[in-house]
Amino acid sequence: MIPQNYIEPDIDFIRKVGKQSGASFKECMQCGACTVVCNLSPQENPFPRKEMIWTAWGLKEKLIGNPNLWLCHQCGDCSSYCPRGVDPANVLSSLRQINYEYYANPSFLARALNKIIFLPIVILFPAIIILLILLLAGTMQIPDGDVNYSLFFPHLHLNISFSLLVLLVAFGMVLSIKKFWSDIKNNMPGVRSYSLVKSFFSVLKTILTHKQFSKCDTHKYHYWAHMAVFWGFILLILVTLVAIANVLFFEYPMSLMHPAKITGNIAGILLVVGISIMGYQRLTNKKGTGKSTYFDWMFLIFLLLLTISGTITQLARFGNWSSAYYIYFFHLVCVWIVIIYAPYTKFGHMIYRIVAMTYAKSVGRL
Ligand code: SF4
Ligand code: SF4
Repeated sequence: MIPQNYIEPDIDFIRKVGKQSGASFKECMQCGACTVVCNLSPQENPFPRKEMIWTAWGLKEKLIGNPNLWLCHQCGDCSSYCPRGVDPANVLSSLRQINYEYYANPSFLARALNKIIFLPIVILFPAIIILLILLLAGTMQIPDGDVNYSLFFPHLHLNISFSLLVLLVAFGMVLSIKKFWSDIKNNMPGVRSYSLVKSFFSVLKTILTHKQFSKCDTHKYHYWAHMAVFWGFILLILVTLVAIANVLFFEYPMSLMHPAKITGNIAGILLVVGISIMGYQRLTNKKGTGKSTYFDWMFLIFLLLLTISGTITQLARFGNWSSAYYIYFFHLVCVWIVIIYAPYTKFGHMIYRIVAMTYAKSVGRL
């Protein structure tokens, strides 16, 4: 008969978190300093001390679908104060990454986007599909004269194909959220004190203002960098939607002084500034950012490439550069990687975080 307190550690899980986080979590002495300094840890069921021991013991089932992981905003305060240099912030980040893979639909996409070995396929796949769309539309011939992207890139075909793919990916995300929601409810049962709709809008306000990041004590740049990237990205999505409507129903190409163009350029500046701060900190401030993985870099680099290639695409059109069509092609591949792969890259944390925070709010833990 199995004793009541018997635990079965998942050794592969321990190894995986150790390798990804680079943290020596086995040295955690359970002092609780990390939980005390964490400004986001609720009084009831606080974190991350117990998550540290669960990780060291390989209790995977307690760490998959654990809402606490997503209430953490990786400010790094706990790692700064840990007397054993264990780096709990990075352990939690690694646990979130494992959760992405677990919940992703289809999961092979999350695995492919998490390993550098698959990078050529990750880039080649959208490049081939875009070329096929051009071939099917019969526009695969670089036109003479002034640069006019719509003569080479069939915007109607591209918009329809990209929109269908986004819908497909969104359907996969809905399945992931359904499973995630059921697991967080089981892992942290609670009595509902707010309606889900009220909780969702309250969380949305917190996210839009980055209220949780502003509670960070030791690394204030987190707030400003995330704020710039977050709003830059939101503006970019809005501008993209306006641009699609414009291409289909109104004027094309848009003038440089079109409000959507101006907003797009403001979004570009915000993104470049935010990503540069994040990248610089990741390279120079290992203590504040923890160990940076390929998963962290991949999303940041492609978001930066998307922003830069978008700006150069405009310049190339106004300057009638001979390379303009190639630059736009590269830009489209970046759009695919950032937008269509979004739920499988680090961007996905935003979706899981909103879901976990909404649940936490609804049961009075936020
Ligand atoms: S502060 Fe460090 S040693 Fe103390 S419980 Fe947290 S991780 Fe463990
Ligand atoms: S990284 Fe920040 S939010 Fe996350 S557990 Fe540590 S102190 Fe709390």
